[in-house]
Amino acid sequence: MGWALALHGGAGDIPRSLPAELRDRRLATLRRCLDIGTAALRDGRPALDVVELVVRELEDCPYFNAGKGSVLTSDSTVEMEACVMEGATLRCGAVSGLSTVVNAVSLARRVMENTPHIYLAFEGAEAFARNQGLETKDPSHFITEHNIERLRQAKEANRVQIDYTQPMTKKPGMDPPADDNSQIGTVGCVAIDAAGNLATATSTGGLVNKMPGRIGDTPLVGAGTYANAFCAVSATGKGESIIRHTVSRDVAAMMEHRPGMTLHDAAARVVGATPRGDVGLVAVSASGEVCMVYNTTGMFRACATEDGHAEVGIWTDDGHSVSIGL
Ligand code: ASP
Repeated sequence: MGWALALHGGAGDIPRSLPAELRDRRLATLRRCLDIGTAALRDGRPALDVVELVVRELEDCPYFNAGKGSVLTSDSTVEMEACVMEGATLRCGAVSGLSTVVNAVSLARRVMENTPHIYLAFEGAEAFARNQGLETKDPSHFITEHNIERLRQAKEANRVQIDYTQPMTKKPGMDPPADDNSQIGTVGCVAIDAAGNLATATSTGGLVNKMPGRIGDTPLVGAGTYANAFCAVSATGKGESIIRHTVSRDVAAMMEHRPGMTLHDAAARVVGATPRGDVGLVAVSASGEVCMVYNTTGMFRACATEDGHAEVGIWTDDGHSVSIGL
């Protein structure tokens, strides 16, 4: 057994018509993040540091729905959320309702390490970020043109949606918006380091056109994010489905209570029990098994293991091996 990691940039109804330029930018970011995570694991960094490092990179990239690039609430505001968890200790930290914190994942880690609590939200979380000296920016920093357009589309169709929901059927007399295919997604990373420590981190802007105050699965320990001594899981997709099915904890519980079950079988069972089109996840087990499972059209994803396997993909038939700066 050696180190391993997997990351995602969101699951959903990702259209095959995604313009090559947008697809390639996101694939390049996934590859870059895979390289960063791989290099850190090779350097002997702990899994918790690695998942935070990778998720920070993804948060800083405007092509994914987390940090800069977060989708907008129905009030055209950003409310970011994140969670981190360490498998061996079950220590975890979570944050919600952030509008100025540049890296929500790092604030979640500070909550875990520097408070007696697990979960801080809204004003209290913002005040704690300042108290900890974390970088903050004006809320306008996080709002991209793409997300203003995504919100416009969602409002026009009167729906709350994950980023990858295909646009509604064209309304009579109305042209489809120019950037229909500009979908972006929630981010997450799971890792096991050379010492066998498991960790997970997930970060998101949530759903397009969500009600202000809505909290999704990402920061809810056991729903979008969970790690124990058996595996680490980060989920993406429709938060309400992920919460109902306690997706991440269910995978970990199967690994815990059904000795001999592979991680892939556990993840496939849990995801298979959720409504089709709603859920994806990445996970790593204590034995170094990696899996990336989804019941959506696609999931932006990447993984690497110490034995040299590395893969990046979006749809089911395009997962391809990549070299990881050996
Ligand atoms: N799970 C996220 C949420 O519901 C959205 C996503 O994964 O894209 O907030």
